[in-house]
Amino acid sequence: MVTTPLSSQPAPTLSPLNVPQRLLLGPGPSNVNPVVLAAMNTPPLGHLDPDFLGIMDEIQTLLRYVWQTQNRLTYAISGTGTAAMEATLANAIEPGDRVVVCVKGYFGHRLVDMAQRYGAQVHAIHQTWGQPFSKESIQNAIETHRPAVLAIVHAETSTGVRQPLEGLSDLCQAHGTLLLVDTVTSMGGVPIKLDEWGIDLAYSCSQKGLACPPGASPFTLSDRAYAKLQKRSGKVPNWYLDATLLEKYWGSERVYHHTAPINMYYALREALRLLAEEGIENAWERHQQNAEYLWSQLEAIGLQMHVAKEYRLPTLTTVRIPEGIDGKAIARRLLLDYNIEVGGGLGELGGKVWRIGLMGYNSRPENVDRLLQAFKEVL
Ligand code: PLP
Repeated sequence: MVTTPLSSQPAPTLSPLNVPQRLLLGPGPSNVNPVVLAAMNTPPLGHLDPDFLGIMDEIQTLLRYVWQTQNRLTYAISGTGTAAMEATLANAIEPGDRVVVCVKGYFGHRLVDMAQRYGAQVHAIHQTWGQPFSKESIQNAIETHRPAVLAIVHAETSTGVRQPLEGLSDLCQAHGTLLLVDTVTSMGGVPIKLDEWGIDLAYSCSQKGLACPPGASPFTLSDRAYAKLQKRSGKVPNWYLDATLLEKYWGSERVYHHTAPINMYYALREALRLLAEEGIENAWERHQQNAEYLWSQLEAIGLQMHVAKEYRLPTLTTVRIPEGIDGKAIARRLLLDYNIEVGGGLGELGGKVWRIGLMGYNSRPENVDRLLQAFKEVL
């Protein structure tokens, strides 16, 4: 008789999961709307079940509404915002393509690194962390490099800057350049109109303005971007993110590609439905009003914002840490004593700012009041 030897590795014994209730006012994730959490608690369907395919169709319709686009290729990437970022670059870039990346914060650097990995000749242009690019500096870069793709972050989460995008598409189209925009910290909270602004490729995430957990990330390609994809000489070098394969699952063919994270898609569908119910313009207005309330309350206790009001994001505010204050210690006290998460500075702004998010379900005056009360006690 063959006996299986006992494993020398003992089974871990843990108590059931017990997670503290935090108010997530950092750069994301933000708190999830309870309706969305309830939707996740629905039994999974098969990923080719006609009812599930109907939910995928609804996600596409809702994404088009929230982004204000008619793009046929508009769907969710199964992964976080970084996967959707990678999907845009993998599909848009052919080895040797010139790509201009506008770097004015941490996520611009990530775009540079990724574009290089897909074989692009990358020309990065730089702006001070805390300021947007002028249209003239972008025009200059396009005219100098005549890139296949211009990549820019709309809402730079590391600095709190809103980059104006109006007018860029005319520059891009005049030079045969595709306009690729990161809308991770803007979608659902900051006005963005993909078609009106001529944006060719965009991606986002679920865990910020959409009030959903992280894991299913919006992605879209315009007809111009799709035409470039169809003309490419080689295959998209990333199988999982190849839009020509993904379109067969999301489009009418319904061919198996990967097992969709079913319950994440339920959550995304509900999060988008709630945004549509509120009305996207109303959601933008709510974010602006609550951000202005936050700014006035922070100023009232003597704190300074890092970004000029004109370019400040309503979703993410960078607040300068006053001289002589240990910013990390304050954030730690807020977390452990008050159950409130705020973010620290990233990259060049490390140790210089706190990052306060008011996104999606969290963009409410009572959250501002709770944070300000805690700030007053710890500062
Ligand atoms: N782009 C921006 C502007 C972001 O803020 C983030 C994350 O915060 C990402 C991309 C990457 O998204 P994720 O962390 O969901 O992968």
